[in-house]
Amino acid sequence: MDLFDLYQQQQIRGQARDLRQTEENLSRNRRHTNDQVEETEERVDRLLLLCEAMWELITETTALTTEDLAAKAYELDMSDGNKDGRRQRMAVTCHCGAKINPKAGICQFCSAPAPERSAFEAV
Ligand SMILES: [Zn+2]
Repeated sequence: MDLFDLYQQQQIRGQARDLRQTEENLSRNRRHTNDQVEETEERVDRLLLLCEAMWELITETTALTTEDLAAKAYELDMSDGNKDGRRQRMAVTCHCGAKINPKAGICQFCSAPAPERSAFEAV
């Protein structure tokens, strides 16, 4: 075995070690992603259950119908100008005239607190 063979074997061992490390990292990332997906699915399931419970209470105690619900959902969906099944958070205008990022609590120019938002917009 000459010096070049030793060098090649050392390179191969190093690359095999790197490959094992990469596989371990991928496996860890996959488990983390699966945990996040599972947690999100549980949250969506809980949210759906609460929505169903609220809707049953509403229909049991008011004259509202599923058509009313669909019309309101359409109205809210279209309030941002896009029919995409969700409602985009819109920037609000500060008293100084600057637009405040929907996720920020204060104006980045004058530090004034953002105007009150609905409970859902604060989520
Ligand atoms: Zn401002």
